[in-house]
Amino acid sequence: MKLMFEKSVAGRGTHYLPALDVQEPEDLDPKFARQSDLDLPELSEVDVDRHYSELDRATFGVNNGIYMLGSCTMKYNPPVHELIVNRPEWAGLHPLQPEDSAQGALEAIGTLEHYLAEISGMNVVTFQPVAGAHGELVGLLTIRAYLESKGEGDRKVIFVPDAAHGTNPASASMAGFEIKAIPVFEDGSIDLDKLKEVAGPDTAGLMLTNPNTEGHFETGIREVCDIIHEAGGCCYYDGANLNAVMGVVRPGDMGFDLIHFNLHKTFSTPHGGGGPGACAVGAKEFLEEFLPGERAVKNGDTWEWETPAHSIGRVSTFHGNFLVMLRALSYVLTLGADGIRYTAQNAVLNANYMMFALKDLFPMASPDRCMHEFVASASKLKKETGVTAMDISKALLDYGVHPPTMYFPLTIPEALMVEPTETEPKETLDYAIKAFREIVELAHTDPEKVIGAPYTTPIARPDDVEAARHPILKYVPEEA
Ligand SMILES: *Cc1c(COP(=O)(O)O)cnc(C)c1O
Repeated sequence: MKLMFEKSVAGRGTHYLPALDVQEPEDLDPKFARQSDLDLPELSEVDVDRHYSELDRATFGVNNGIYMLGSCTMKYNPPVHELIVNRPEWAGLHPLQPEDSAQGALEAIGTLEHYLAEISGMNVVTFQPVAGAHGELVGLLTIRAYLESKGEGDRKVIFVPDAAHGTNPASASMAGFEIKAIPVFEDGSIDLDKLKEVAGPDTAGLMLTNPNTEGHFETGIREVCDIIHEAGGCCYYDGANLNAVMGVVRPGDMGFDLIHFNLHKTFSTPHGGGGPGACAVGAKEFLEEFLPGERAVKNGDTWEWETPAHSIGRVSTFHGNFLVMLRALSYVLTLGADGIRYTAQNAVLNANYMMFALKDLFPMASPDRCMHEFVASASKLKKETGVTAMDISKALLDYGVHPPTMYFPLTIPEALMVEPTETEPKETLDYAIKAFREIVELAHTDPEKVIGAPYTTPIARPDDVEAARHPILKYVPEEA
């Protein structure tokens, strides 16, 4: 497909520029003025419209079909949120505006803080970080600041399970901690006795997702947190994806001291195209003074920005991604307490429905019951037919179905991690199940056909290793 610049035809154009609504500068030094015309594409309105429609057709999003990317919660994002956040009263605010002229915005942030604290069982929430991994780093730096304040800065060990999201050990390492694996049994549940043995005076804390990445809900979680607390550490909950538990059970009640939520996953902001995201970090009261600044706080009748007393400092310019917070607030207020619980229950129901319909085809990581996602292994199919998890994913594209997350978690060979999300109706789930079944059948009768897929997409199998090692970041027009 050609770029707009290549489609440009000299002299063509459509001009609907609004009238200048600021004063034209009178004494602008000519050295600041442009010396030549801007090289913009010259196109008619219909050219531009078709260009973007073509780009739209070459892209797959939640609006096109089921997007079952496990761990990522690619949920449907209601367009009404876009109407809300695009109102000039919100979108036109300047982050350096005096507080008294932005009371509504501070109140919106404070209100979202209240609801997220309620949902997670925490006392305070900061909105400074702009991505999940960024939130993890904030959480870990907060733990470090807390330990240092007690004269225990030499505690270095953070326990992380083997099945954890890769960002967990990466963030812990960036924050200067040493990572140790949490001891688990075959079925993925935590070995409490072993944990008791390894937790001690060097323990800084633990990072965990519950249900874990394989879909297993750790019922002994209170004991796990008790062991870490008794050893003198803090417990961090990776709540990037809260779809299975929100409105049902609260990480704060499980014993966790900190949590991060990806507002761009569970709380409805489109993601996958590279942002913008926003991450909220919730904490128990004893950690409040260390959180990054500033936070929106109500003093008497007025909202103000306040930096916590022993803050780890700023972690982003200004106040985080405000419009993403506003989408999350719209989502929470639209659903209400019952709606949030119903969302989680439906997410779990949809995932179990699909898992049980595919159980005879693939061994499952948590076969009795999963949470909001399940992990299937294609390793048996690979042995029998040569068809891999990657080939299945590619073949799904021809069905107009976005593939699941592949090769994660690392603990499951040929992993396919499916998260259908709560808004998918039964007909769509049945269609995706049928796609999986037909692909597996084809793998047994004509494996080469599956290995050659996809046949209908603009790009079939890019060399992703080559793309990562030698990225071509400059576009060279065809004619050149
Ligand atoms: C997505 C995710 C993260 C990281 O979030 P980013 O916004 O991509 O940085 C961390 N943990 C889990 C479990 C996730 O699913």
